[in-house]
Amino acid sequence: MIIPVRCFSCGKVVGDKWEPYCRRVAAGEQPKDVLDDLGIERYCCRRMLLSHVELIDEILRFHEERESVEIRGDG
Ligand SMILES: [Zn+2]
Repeated sequence: MIIPVRCFSCGKVVGDKWEPYCRRVAAGEQPKDVLDDLGIERYCCRRMLLSHVELIDEILRFHEERESVEIRGDG
């Protein structure tokens, strides 16, 4: 959904690394090199970024749809 602020296992702050990570991977860098460069060394923290799927924008679409149905009153 949204990247967790801290690593679930060790508590290191990883939330602030998500945007630079995405930007650099989209620009063609290898995820391994980006994680090394951002100082994410432990594999518990690396999996937080590697396995994350950003779904918040998809979820918000359903929320907006539901709100419009409630306003029309035919939901
Ligand atoms: Zn960790």
